[in-house]
Amino acid sequence: MVSRIIPVDPFDLVIFGGTGDLARRKILPGLYHRFCAGQMPEDARIIGAARSEMDDKGYRKMIGEALDEFIPHTKREAERVKLFLERLHYTPIDAKGDGGWKTLKKLVRADVVQAFYFSVGPALFGDLATRLHEHEIATPESRIVVEKPFGRDLESARALNKVLADSFDEHQIYRIDHYLGKETVQNLMAVRFANVLFEPLWNAQYIDHVQITVSETVGVEGRGAYYDKSGAMRDMVQNHLMQLLCLTAMEPPSKFDPDAVRDEKLKVIRALDEVPTENIVRGQYAADDEQESYIAHSENPASRTESFIAMKVDISNWRWKGTPFYLRTGKRLRARMSEIVIQFKETPHSIFGEDAGSHANVLVIRLQPDEGIDLRVTIKEPGPGGMRLIDVPLDMTFADALGPEGEDVPDAYERLIMDVIRGNQTLFMRGDEVEAAWRWTDPIIDGWQSRGDRPTQYEPGSSGPEDALMLLHRDGRRWREIKA
Ligand code: NAD
Repeated sequence: MVSRIIPVDPFDLVIFGGTGDLARRKILPGLYHRFCAGQMPEDARIIGAARSEMDDKGYRKMIGEALDEFIPHTKREAERVKLFLERLHYTPIDAKGDGGWKTLKKLVRADVVQAFYFSVGPALFGDLATRLHEHEIATPESRIVVEKPFGRDLESARALNKVLADSFDEHQIYRIDHYLGKETVQNLMAVRFANVLFEPLWNAQYIDHVQITVSETVGVEGRGAYYDKSGAMRDMVQNHLMQLLCLTAMEPPSKFDPDAVRDEKLKVIRALDEVPTENIVRGQYAADDEQESYIAHSENPASRTESFIAMKVDISNWRWKGTPFYLRTGKRLRARMSEIVIQFKETPHSIFGEDAGSHANVLVIRLQPDEGIDLRVTIKEPGPGGMRLIDVPLDMTFADALGPEGEDVPDAYERLIMDVIRGNQTLFMRGDEVEAAWRWTDPIIDGWQSRGDRPTQYEPGSSGPEDALMLLHRDGRRWREIKA
């Protein structure tokens, strides 16, 4: 199979925060991969802009070291790394003052695609947008890429949307959610809308329930102060899990274009019911013999921030009435894995009798670790033992199914950055979507605060508090096991 690399136009990509953790760990390694894939035109340039005083040479050295650290040596060729680093430039900048902006203006070319990646703390998003505008660096076609978190509630998200809108049009703003850049997430749309098999069954009549799990093994080490103001609801549910829920639940858009897709996602968010308290479980990880508790990394010994959340969400529309979506995410859990599980209903009647066992189809869309799609179907157990049924997987792990190319599936950041250069906003959140998601999450968080709710402690390495298991048990259902 020959992969089709769609070339992009020449560009200048300015990475504000180009010396930071995200730039070194994800953005620049991602760009290196696209360079190796032949997707970067001859005169494409990457310009790091951050607080540190440094020249091009110093920056190339810093990023060379980052590539050594974050790209496996089998994928690093000295000659290619050298050629890639030659594309890099650097200019010091002060987001909060005037230092560096005149130089940046001279550096950025007006006749190529211009993209400005805001890889800095959210407090600087507004400053950067305003200064790009005031110093007349951005053109009406320039793009800005805004990292998460996009606000911490509806009010702050609105304020941020407003300050960006003062300098940029919505078609120029790319709010990044890297979950949307994952191959499998886009494959979810292909599975739903490019096959006749699934869409006719994709509703409450045939689907019993949906589970969305994003489970991490890491804790909050080193990020305690930040995380304490956020928690799993703000950090994961409002953005990543909500986006996965929307793509699973949305109506077919009329075409695969940014506004058609985002209109349908927005309708889902607006159709979400309020979630009663009994349908939410909050947890905070305790200590065990080897690992410290959440509290040990928090600045507040009485912190009530949740590192785990599980919830049952109902969508009030014709397609989903009666089919709940169960969401679950947490830190310091048993394994690192993310998946969407579509649990179909059992057949209305079994012609094989009770002894054959009852079975229902399950479609699992795995986001990590091995991206892929797994459909469990029921067949006859081989052999002469009569008509006994078993479930077997029809597994499509991309790395296996697509051969050597499957292993080189672009990382989410690579894909999304190339979408920015191409000017395709389909996989980015629109301002009204983000606000609608906060409008739904705010009352839940406010409720915890006004009642002074405490999260339940759970054991590190477990699958969260017992209550999360009960959330499904009481409905006669079970979570799929958390395992790598
Ligand atoms: P970081 O603290 O490692 O880097 C911050 C960068 O901003 C540095 O390059 C610094 O020089 C620059 N900076 C700070 N103040 C500045 C100023 N006044 N003027 C100019 N530059 C200034 O942060 P990070 O981890 O790289 O995160 C960047 C953004 O990405 C944040 O919004 C974060 O929430 C988001 N994010 C990070 C990750 C991650 O894995 N690191 C993941 C998702 C989202």
